[in-house]
Amino acid sequence: MRIGQGFDVHAFQDGGSLVLGGVKIPYARSMAAHSDGDVLLHALCDALLGAATLGDIGRHFPDSDPAWAGIDSRELLRQVVSKVQANGFRVSNADLVLVAQAPRLAPHIEAMCEHISADLQVNRGRVNVKATTTEHLGFTGREEGIAAFAVVLLDE
Ligand code: MG
Repeated sequence: MRIGQGFDVHAFQDGGSLVLGGVKIPYARSMAAHSDGDVLLHALCDALLGAATLGDIGRHFPDSDPAWAGIDSRELLRQVVSKVQANGFRVSNADLVLVAQAPRLAPHIEAMCEHISADLQVNRGRVNVKATTTEHLGFTGREEGIAAFAVVLLDE
């Protein structure tokens, strides 16, 4: 069994579409990013790549490559899962945390879990997403951005 962790942060920008865990969330702001800015899926990709000893998301999908501009991060996740599987691993489970003061994420958690379990090719029961605030402390608490943490286990 292998364990991997991932962490990512994106800043808010005015306008655009806020996408977290592959779910479009109604909000006046979005994540500033080269891709769609799905901070949760980026943390998950890094956890998967880490567990498989395959480096990180920046190595596989560099910001400098126009091919990844505005890309749906679910597509990145599916490509990462393919790489992980090609190296002889399958996903056992994933536990993810979103850190955001706003917007309220609880109503969207189930849809995120459904998208993520589909992309990881695992049963819904193997994916857990949690959301927390930081009680108005720090950059997330000031609503300057959103952070995400991911931990995954892979079976060899
Ligand atoms: Mg990112």
